[in-house]
Parts: sequence; structure tokens; C-alpha cells
Amino acid sequence: MKILVLNAGSSSIKYQLINMENYAVIANGLIEQIGENSSLARIKYLDKEGAEQKIEHKLPIPNHEIALKLMSALLIESSAIHDLNDLDGIGHRVVQGGSSFREPVIVDEWVASEIERLIPLAPLHNPGHLAGIKVSLEQSPSVPQVVVFDTAFHATMPPHAYMYAIPYHYYEDLKIRRYGFHGTSHRFVAKEAAKFMGKKLSQLNAITLHLGNGASVSAIQNGQSVDTSMGLTPLEGLMMGTRSGDIDPAVLFYLARKEGLDIETLDRVLNKESGLKGICGINDMREVGQMAEEGNEKAQLALDMFNYRIKKYIGAYSAALGRVDCIVFTGGIGENAHNVRAKSCENLQNLGIEIDPILNQKRSSRTMQISTKESPVTVLVIPTNEELEIALQTQEVILAHKQKLH
Ligand code: ADP
Repeated sequence: MKILVLNAGSSSIKYQLINMENYAVIANGLIEQIGENSSLARIKYLDKEGAEQKIEHKLPIPNHEIALKLMSALLIESSAIHDLNDLDGIGHRVVQGGSSFREPVIVDEWVASEIERLIPLAPLHNPGHLAGIKVSLEQSPSVPQVVVFDTAFHATMPPHAYMYAIPYHYYEDLKIRRYGFHGTSHRFVAKEAAKFMGKKLSQLNAITLHLGNGASVSAIQNGQSVDTSMGLTPLEGLMMGTRSGDIDPAVLFYLARKEGLDIETLDRVLNKESGLKGICGINDMREVGQMAEEGNEKAQLALDMFNYRIKKYIGAYSAALGRVDCIVFTGGIGENAHNVRAKSCENLQNLGIEIDPILNQKRSSRTMQISTKESPVTVLVIPTNEELEIALQTQEVILAHKQKLH
């Protein structure tokens, strides 16, 4: 079975073709700056001898329709497929599924219209996803297509975790509540953690930390998300590369009144100019770490704030869960920045968390334990694989759908 995973944004499309017999990536690529003159379409694949090859075209790509045609031409040129209709399924990543979608589903007209209806909740993401889905349906009508939502894994959160303490009618009228994101990643690493711990997912209590440019933490009880740090949008929670995370909302009123900042500006400041970048001018954790080592005080402060916020969430979610079997670090920062892991878990022996400094320095492309043998809570580093998780869920939905038809 060959499944193509598509992550369509407003001006880019990431794609990955996966062989579901052995979960190997047959080809992956990126089409970026759609709608601009300097667009770029790229594919990477392994040739018959197993050597990595790359094809790249720089040309104007005016819209998603041309972008997807180019992607299929690249997949054919690389011999990954003969025709888009060779595919057994296409899995589309969708950031916001609101309250409508608790699980991945086969795309039909109603599903597409719901994703469109949810645009106000995800104005930066859902329009691009929708464009990708519509064009993909037109171009490969005979291939089953599934949408996998970043929010779906968190649909199990109880109301006391997802409600905001604001007038109830805003929830009823506008569906303002916490949804959570990165669900595909939290789910994938929770499943991997359960395997490592020799438990069923339904027996696992875990705190999963997805630390990338965006960062979120999830409290998982008996394999289900019961709380997560992102909210109505991916702005709430941990400090991130350019996002503020948790903040007293009164700061916004104060800025509006004192500096005359309008809504658009405040949105930009909190989403694009805050976080690590807001404190030290740089949002890339590698550089921030380097600057801190060289004695840059603001970089050190940014790092301290980042780690402290993680530590607070570990404490909060330990309280929410009662029993914690494991803590999982994942994402570009979680998988690579040993100093972040060490500092955010420092002095947490009272919560049963004890990192082994030597194990913590190691690197691995597989699940790796970094806690001491005696640590009651196991601390793991697990490389996330959101594309594979989307492909797995796509496969599951397609097989179940086929069975229902028979
Ligand atoms: P995204 O959320 O865009 O998928 P990633 O999960 O790739 O992002 O994470 C990107 C972050 O990971 C960046 O801040 C980057 O600096 C950080 N990162 C990647 N490698 C390292 C490393 N070796 N040490 C510290 N940080 C790293």
C-alpha cells in the first residue's frame, strides 16, 4: 500500500510518499512560495541503487492546482509512481477540526464544507489545507482521501480542561474553547512510549512535550489526552520560537491603551515577535543556546524562561494525572537540546523525575531513555514522525471504510 501525505499551507505544500509495507519513505518534497514568481518545487527520493537523488525546479507556480500537478509530475519523473491513481490513499493534514471532528475521516463534500466553516478558528492554516484538498480531489478522484486533524487527539479533554472562564454564551455562540494542537505528534509519541514501556496505550499515563518552533505539552491519561497547553489557537501555553505562550490578557488592554496598538498589531506581536525572539532577537534554539554559552544575557534569560515554563507545566500535569509513567521529549528542540531537557527536569526528584546526565547527552534516532534506573518516572526522548502517523491513520480509515462497503 502506498500512501501520500499532504500538508498544504497557504503558500507551500509538503508531501511524503510512504510504503505502508515497511513504513519506508519512497519520496518526499516541498513546493514553496506558491503564488510568487520565485516558487520552487523539489523532490527527494532513493534511486534503484538506493542512492539519494534530488530534482528541483524553479519556476512561477501561480496556485495550488499547478503546484499539485507539478508534484505529481515530480513523483512520476522520480519513478515513485506511474500515475497519481496508483496511490492507495492520500492523507491530508488539517490543523483545526473544531468540535466537528474527533477522528480522521474520508473527505466528502460535507467534510470540505466543515473545514471551510472552521476557517475563522484557523485563518492561517485551514484555507491552504482546503485548497490542497479540493485540487487533490479533482486530480485524483479515484483515490480515497482522508483528513487527519491536529486537534482530534485532544477531543477527549474534559470540559473542565477545555473551557475558558469567560461568559458561557461565547462557548455556545462562537465555540470559543481550548482545542489543542500537535495532536498527531502527541499521539505518535504516546504510542511509541507505550511500546517502549511494554504497556498498552490504554494503560499509559504520560506527559508529552512537543518542542519545535511551536511547542506544546499534553497530559495523557490511559492513552487519552486529558489536557494540553495550546488553546483556541496555537498561541497559548509554553514559550515558543516567536509566540508568547501564556500571558495575562490585560497586557493587551494595557498595550492598546498606552501605545494605541490595534488588533492586527497585537496579533503580530504575540504570534511573530514574541517568545525566544521577543526576548533575545533570535527564534532558533540552536543559535539561542550558542549565544547563551558565549555569555549573551538576553539569550540566557530567554533560555531560562523557556525551561522554567516547561518545568511549570510538568508540575501542573503531574498534579492533573496523579500517576505519571513517563515524560516524553520530542520535536526539534525536545529531540536535540539536552540542556533544555536537563534544566526543565532539574530538581524534580519530589515528582519522581531524575535524569541521568550521561544518558541525556546521547543521541539516537530511536526511542531513548534518559532517566536513571531508579527514577520512578521514566524520561524518554522519542523522534516524532507526524507524516507516518497521518499515513497510519489514513490507512486505518480507508481499510475500515472498505470493510463497511463489503
Ligand atoms: P517545527 O515546529 O517547525 O516542525 P522543529 O520541530 O524542526 O520545528 O524544531 C525546530 C527547532 O528545533 C528550532 O528552534 C531549532 O533550533 C531546534 N533544534 C534543531 N536542532 C537542534 C539542536 N541540535 N540543538 C538545539 N535545538 C535544535
